[in-house]
Amino acid sequence: MLSTRSFMLLFLSCIAVRMNLCFTGIHSSLKMLSINGHFEFDKVQFAARDFGNRYQYYPAAVLHPSSVSDIAMTIEHIWKMGPRSELTVAARGHGHSLHGQAQAHQGVVINMESLQDPQMQVHTRNFTYVDVSGGELWINILHESLKYGLTPKSWTDYLHLTVGGTLSNAGISGQAFRHGPQISNVHQLEVVTGKGDVVSCSKEQNSDLFYGVLGGLGQFGIITRAKILLEPAPTMVKWIRVLYLDFTTFSSEQELLISAENTFDYIEGFVIINRTGLLNNWRSSFNPQDPVQASQFKSDGKILYCLELAKYFHHTEDNIIDQEVTRLLSQLSYIPSTLFISEVTYVEFLDRVQVSAVKLQSKGLWEVPHPWLNLLVPKSKIKKFAEGVFGNILKETSNGPVLIYPLNKSKWDNRTSVVIPEEEIFYLVAFLTSAVPFSRGNNSLEYILAQNMRILEFCRTANLGAKQYLPHYTTRNEWQAHFGPMWETYVQRKKAYDPLAILAPGQRIFQKAK
Ligand code: FAD
Repeated sequence: MLSTRSFMLLFLSCIAVRMNLCFTGIHSSLKMLSINGHFEFDKVQFAARDFGNRYQYYPAAVLHPSSVSDIAMTIEHIWKMGPRSELTVAARGHGHSLHGQAQAHQGVVINMESLQDPQMQVHTRNFTYVDVSGGELWINILHESLKYGLTPKSWTDYLHLTVGGTLSNAGISGQAFRHGPQISNVHQLEVVTGKGDVVSCSKEQNSDLFYGVLGGLGQFGIITRAKILLEPAPTMVKWIRVLYLDFTTFSSEQELLISAENTFDYIEGFVIINRTGLLNNWRSSFNPQDPVQASQFKSDGKILYCLELAKYFHHTEDNIIDQEVTRLLSQLSYIPSTLFISEVTYVEFLDRVQVSAVKLQSKGLWEVPHPWLNLLVPKSKIKKFAEGVFGNILKETSNGPVLIYPLNKSKWDNRTSVVIPEEEIFYLVAFLTSAVPFSRGNNSLEYILAQNMRILEFCRTANLGAKQYLPHYTTRNEWQAHFGPMWETYVQRKKAYDPLAILAPGQRIFQKAK
């Protein structure tokens, strides 16, 4: 008779042998494909990590593609194996997801950054665009297009993300009120579907796939190529921060600014709760307009709302920009002594988060868990949200920034897959928290996750009509509720472009067909 322990050991070794056989089968079947790039079967750990640093699913293989046909061939191979294969495929951009969305448990991860085809190329005839690989980083696109005096119009706050990664979500920053999210600034895409077909799509050609993929969470195809619209680039930026004590004044002035014709080029904002030494801790590149008055400013522990603005200009406009900024600021009623202005280059402004990233990396603080929560809240409910959350559920903001800024719905295309609130103006509220590993206090992962749950629960019970951005759900019902009336279209698109549910398993929306 086998003892329980021996039985368990035998059982586990049977599973291990089975998995090994299974992996050997997967490895040899993938090795048979005549691709230009290569498969990696051993050094795959990096593909089981992401910025969220909370989920780790190891793939069976990582594909480093050198051409779109490598990707198409791999997916077609898996598609042809049909439901008898459990293999799934996840495109991995820069791995800056939060919940394992770019991971594929025992599947194939495609390292999109290896795909350098097409070579990035700026086009200036008829209209201006840059033709890039889906694995290209936005920071590289910025540098390349600036060589032609051009720039993409709409950004994310952080540029070390890939085109495919942000277009699968939306891509939002302080320019989106005017230009819409990044998904509103794409001319054409090349996509590899879940059957391995390579399809070119745009508003005019294969438009259902085009709109489906934009904001589609990677469910309908892998973006291998994108044509991104460009505009003339400025060279310099006036970067401004002002503080408010009253939320209603802060938010209504944000709304006023995003609705005006002649306004700033970038409009964001953030919340400051229970932070001390605020003015001394201000970024060193920020200079108070009146240092003496600023040093006397005391928030007395009250919640502060910081409006962050930018006005772009060219060196040649040096003489008029100050007047223009003064004119725009004169409409606002922020606390007068809290006007901070700095002047930086356009690249410095757009790549601003990288400065903090490098600092945090050097202290090992970039690789901590990031239990981020991003919400889109309708304008009519933002005051109620602020009252319920800031200083109430959220008692301090020392675990990371809390961004809050309004967006114009008219700049979003409702044919895309992204889910946004119903109202004409809605807010992005982003809780960008970092957890301290092994801590038990209010900077621990458990504490922050519980806080996130309370915020979500508050939104639900107060019926705020908020939607998650970079959504994360674990059940089909929750996904269905998230998509609401768009769910049917989403399911139909899945059936059309990825019927076996091979793609983007890390989003946990559909199960691979068995
Ligand atoms: P990954 O994490 O690698 O992938 C994300 C998802 O897209 C996965 O499901 C993956 O399978 C899929 N995917 C990746 N590439 C492709 C492709 N080529 N085709 C199809 N599907 C693909 N977002 C904003 O909107 N605004 C911000 O200001 C912003 N700031 C951020 C700052 C930081 C520091 C971080 C970590 C994230 C930020 N984000 C922001 C979120 C970011 O846009 C998303 O997490 C994005 O998905 C990350 O891009 P990535 O290249 O790392 O994608």
